[in-house]
Amino acid sequence: MINKNDFLKTLGNNILIGDGAMGTVLQGLGISTSPDLFISKDANSLKLLSEVHLNYLKNGSNIIQANTFGANPIKLETAGLKSEIKNINEKAVICAQIAVESYKDSFRNPKDGLRPIFIAGNLGPTGKLLKPFGDLDYKDAVDAFSQQVDILLKTKIADIILIETMLDINEALAAVEAVKQINKEVTIICTLTFNENSVTIMGNKAEDAVNILTEAGCAVVGANCSVGSDKMLETVKKMRNANPDVKLIFQPNAGLPSIKDGKTVYSETPEIMAQNIKKYLEYKPSILGACCGSTPKHIKKIAGLIQNQLQ
Ligand SMILES: [Zn+2]
Repeated sequence: MINKNDFLKTLGNNILIGDGAMGTVLQGLGISTSPDLFISKDANSLKLLSEVHLNYLKNGSNIIQANTFGANPIKLETAGLKSEIKNINEKAVICAQIAVESYKDSFRNPKDGLRPIFIAGNLGPTGKLLKPFGDLDYKDAVDAFSQQVDILLKTKIADIILIETMLDINEALAAVEAVKQINKEVTIICTLTFNENSVTIMGNKAEDAVNILTEAGCAVVGANCSVGSDKMLETVKKMRNANPDVKLIFQPNAGLPSIKDGKTVYSETPEIMAQNIKKYLEYKPSILGACCGSTPKHIKKIAGLIQNQLQ
């Protein structure tokens, strides 16, 4: 685990590279993306999961996200897997750890590979709406997330906690509170999912969210998923204008999905995505990655933007 101050020191004025999609890459490999991946007897699926993480590292990721997005107790209960919560979260972070170790082993001189690398324990939505829109109590949401965070941090493998794809700022705040309940020092990164007007489905505006989440204790805040890297530019501008100093993260989808020959395909090639994300640089982001539909090739192009900037 790395505490917030040390993480911010490492980050400095640099740009770290996140990873890309896990779910859509696994789908492309014909593997189940649901948490039952971890309790199946098919060891090969877990090996492939580690290989996806490894591919992101080889293509420039500094932060890889363990496949724990849907592994909170409320989501797991819906899938009939609540009793497996420990097993599922632990196996997911171990898969990420195996990838990091094998990446570091691939360097003859380990110093060559020692750019900062972090494993993020990933928290996604519960899938239920908080009151008054649904029947989930804020306190129950906090309790649920804290069960998952406790398991993730006890592994001693997760370095940071990344909360993402939140549509309701109150659910995001419940997750942030849960992390702080378990450990006050840990680095929290949080991203919401906005539409092309920079508003979430629940009506939360990007320019408001940036300050609310920062005040709640997040080290880095931003946006992920949604409508694609070109349309996310407006959200980038609004968040930066709302707060000139905050550390920002953006991990857009590779455009919108469509069905082609029975397969889901995303509209943005690695080249298009990198061209769009290049425009974000003016607004001084701290972490850039990608979400649904992206691949290690997209991450390579995004990482290339930063290298070009340094030259
Ligand atoms: Zn996504």
